[in-house]
Amino acid sequence: MQWQPIGKPASIRAAANLRDYTATCRAFDWTAARAALSGLPDGGLNIAHEAVDRHAEGARADHVALRWVDRTDTVTELTYAELAERTNRFAALLRELGIHRGDRVYTLLGRVPDLYVVVLGALKAGCVVSPLFSAFGPEPVRQRLVLGGASLLVTSPALYRRKVRDIRHQVPTLRHVLLSGATGEGDAPALEPMLTASSPAPSLVSTAPDDAALLHFTSGTTGTPKGALHVHEAVLAHHVTAAYALDLRADDVFWCTADPGWVTGTSYGIVAPLTHGATLVSDEGDFEAHRWYRVLDRQGVTVWYTAPTALRMLMRHGDGLAEGYDLSALRFIASVGEPLNPEAVVWGQATLGLPVHDNWWQTETGAIMIGNFAAEEIRPGSMGRPVPGVEVCLLRRGAEGRALVTGGRVHPVTAAGEEGELAIRPGWPSMFRAYWNDPERYASAFADGWYLSGDVARRDADGYYWFVGRADDMIKSAGHLVGPFEVESVLLAHPAVAEAGVIGKPDPVAGELVKAFVSLRPGHAATEELRLELLAFGRRALGAVAPKEIEFDPDLPHTRSGKVMRRLLKARELGLPEGDLSTLEATR
Ligand code: ATP
Ligand code: MG
Repeated sequence: MQWQPIGKPASIRAAANLRDYTATCRAFDWTAARAALSGLPDGGLNIAHEAVDRHAEGARADHVALRWVDRTDTVTELTYAELAERTNRFAALLRELGIHRGDRVYTLLGRVPDLYVVVLGALKAGCVVSPLFSAFGPEPVRQRLVLGGASLLVTSPALYRRKVRDIRHQVPTLRHVLLSGATGEGDAPALEPMLTASSPAPSLVSTAPDDAALLHFTSGTTGTPKGALHVHEAVLAHHVTAAYALDLRADDVFWCTADPGWVTGTSYGIVAPLTHGATLVSDEGDFEAHRWYRVLDRQGVTVWYTAPTALRMLMRHGDGLAEGYDLSALRFIASVGEPLNPEAVVWGQATLGLPVHDNWWQTETGAIMIGNFAAEEIRPGSMGRPVPGVEVCLLRRGAEGRALVTGGRVHPVTAAGEEGELAIRPGWPSMFRAYWNDPERYASAFADGWYLSGDVARRDADGYYWFVGRADDMIKSAGHLVGPFEVESVLLAHPAVAEAGVIGKPDPVAGELVKAFVSLRPGHAATEELRLELLAFGRRALGAVAPKEIEFDPDLPHTRSGKVMRRLLKARELGLPEGDLSTLEATR
């Protein structure tokens, strides 16, 4: 199927933050870009200062920093001045409790205002912050607390009872557990009275750009989650990439639907919009199509950053649903986390009046690396082009699918259309500086002056990158190499298909055969007739690499950050151990 590029009206081009891609790339320099931040007097840099204090001290003091929508749709707002004061209090409290610079402060909270206060307050105190996703069970919580050597945890009374109380004594480093709200429990005191009693005076620790700031665990899509460590300097990349790839400005109302338990929810769900002085929307509720349209409508969201799985679910609900809502404030939509199928880009244009801008990055990269930009045409299915200041290349791969390294050297792919492992030249500010406690694994992610992403892509003649798959997921069938995404995208073009997960299944003849697990849109029954139709549909589009087996599965397994967990589909199919399931989402 041919997808036509989607152009942008002249008005959007004229107003975009990034108007001339080529010229901006040529002129861009990270050192010069530092001018957009304030910095600290002694050459220091602190994420929370850039996100909160510098606005609280200036003309934006009374501008709304955080607009929180709770489960009952009640809205609570915090201005920059209020957020500055509350985060000061939390930083002072950490000092009183003997929690020092470099100590690890964790959160296990739903999307509530204290989550933002604790993360930013702990950064002010120079601590390393690790936000955990609140839906984790006790064991994943314990693992991550132990791995990072947590000193202090802030959670809610309900989460404490369900997930922390019983494992607390198994985390020897954990000195304090504080409960958000006014009610404590045993040796877990309430946070609110402590905040009230602590000092509101500015209390910023002068951190250096290279000081550790955030510890984020990966999604666990391909295996056990890794702890990626980021430093304060990352804020520069958060700020710049939000301007370029999300077209964010100070007057925006910005909603990032990712939970701060994932890197997207911190880099763009907390830090980036605040560094721009924008208003950040936080929705406590879970995904529900009506609810999300309501948030977009009532909060007047202007820039919306979400994920393919959410867009696919909105699509599944049909196009009529959006019509009941006023989305006229919305001017930019972006997506990350998984391949964005061309259908979703085009659906956005048709249903919401705006195409979806795909962008690519990872927990390890800390910020957007490749994106579709406001002023540029969108090529549906492409991740876009590298963000100015980011040098990307594709590396030829060896037999095992990863970049070929011979004698310490790598081999860049130069021809347009050729596939390779996506690699990035170190030097961008939000590059991870360690896998926590795993220096060997960290070292093995670099070769010959490149960071190796583990993803496979191809580049077209105009420099647009197209996602092919994860190096580990590539399927070799009868001599053909195919990524699951390509097959899934084809299946998704069928009107009955809502979502698909594709794996390679060992086969004595073909080596591997392509097997697809498919969930259906409402109104379609899982019949043998439909199965045959989908097989034929796949064959017409894909030929030799078409799925040979299709199984209907109404509950495809997802990571909690919204990705289809293909490794689990494969393990179940082959009767192998299921591996680390700490990030598996409960059935939807
Ligand atoms: P783990 O590393 O634990 O297996 P993960 O790689 O899913 O999990 P994240 O860092 O959350 O953890 O996700 C980054 C990955 O998500 C990328 O490496 C890529 O495979 C995928 N991804 C992100 N954005 C896109 C995109 N726009 N298109 C295709 N894939 C994407
Ligand atoms: Mg990964």
